[in-house]
Amino acid sequence: SSWWSHVEPAPKDPILGVTEAFLADTSPEKVNVGVGAYRDDNGKPVVLECVREAERRIAGNQNMEYLPMGGSVKMVDETLKLAYGENSDLIKEKRIAAVQALSGTGACRLFADFQKRFRPESQIYIPVPTWSNHHNIWRDAQVPQRTFHYYHPETKGLDFASLIDDVKNAPNGSFFLLHACAHNPTGVDPTEEQWKEISYQMKVKGHFPFFDMAYQGFASGDPERDAKSIRIFLEDGHLIGCAQSYAKNMGLYGQRVGCLSVLCDDEKQAVAVKSQLQQIARPMYSNPPVHGALMVSTILSSPDLKELWLKEVKVMADRIIGMRTALKENLEKLGSPLSWEHITEQIGMFCYSGMTPEQVDRLRSEYHIYMTRNGRISMAGVTTGNVGYLANAINEVTK
Ligand code: PMP
Repeated sequence: SSWWSHVEPAPKDPILGVTEAFLADTSPEKVNVGVGAYRDDNGKPVVLECVREAERRIAGNQNMEYLPMGGSVKMVDETLKLAYGENSDLIKEKRIAAVQALSGTGACRLFADFQKRFRPESQIYIPVPTWSNHHNIWRDAQVPQRTFHYYHPETKGLDFASLIDDVKNAPNGSFFLLHACAHNPTGVDPTEEQWKEISYQMKVKGHFPFFDMAYQGFASGDPERDAKSIRIFLEDGHLIGCAQSYAKNMGLYGQRVGCLSVLCDDEKQAVAVKSQLQQIARPMYSNPPVHGALMVSTILSSPDLKELWLKEVKVMADRIIGMRTALKENLEKLGSPLSWEHITEQIGMFCYSGMTPEQVDRLRSEYHIYMTRNGRISMAGVTTGNVGYLANAINEVTK
């Protein structure tokens, strides 16, 4: 018998499996609205001009030595300003423990491991539904998971009343995972008023809010506006944790640039927490990669490149918002008796369409349209060229 004869193949990742099936399809009409990556109106991946220019500026003068364990200090400093605010007192007071992370996933995982190590009895409350990898991350960190209500299938909006009940009913001092904006997979975000209420109730209960912010700028087109949820919690005096990613808003997917921050009582505590985060990173990957962090810090610390970035984020967000309107209007024109208001009510990369797994299967087998079986449409894959075809197919399978 061999060493590994007992090893069974792992189940396919529900998201990455869609791309595989799409690539294997030879139909010229095929459409991929499964993958969570931005495409331009020709369906092509995009490298932002600010990124190209940053690469030109750093070409040749980049040494390839290791970064410190906590990553690029310059990148981290710029990244904190985006989440906590340009002139944040919390930054000035050095109360934030922050390290460069392997994009948003790595930031979440680092936090989950930190939580397990220093709050070993704690659990994590996760919204239903959520990005499927959240479950994997906290599972592998061995933090028990609980859920809280989030999405309301009938309204295809937020189940606010049940969410607040769950916040109230959780044991005092529970950890809650919140999507700062552009909730994945539903595209449903609380309003500002609702965020205020969530923050208030969580403060009353002494809960710990952990923000996963994978889409800052991608929801509204304005990174400041998309950070509003976090700012509300900060106003209320919460000590938060935050995972940030440049995958979507700078198109740096494969570069794996992100940041984990933990807001502390004071500078002394922040120094301690940061040193422990580094200690967790050290035996896993020692220190994070150089190139992406250098591009990010170059862009955010050069006024002209930052301005260009802000324009380009807005172009991406606006294209997606435009496609939401186009998809809805096409469905209405076709005379669909169903309500498609939620397509434009929801925000960010995804539309949680409400289609059943069987309807999604028909889209695939009859129309060569690919998406996850939960009915999540990646709006980034919708273009002027395919929106009519997509709307027709959706109308046919939902009749
Ligand atoms: N959180 C959420 C909610 C996401 O949708 C994603 C990307 N799909 C991530 C985190 C992490 O992405 P990355 O690791 O590429 O930054």
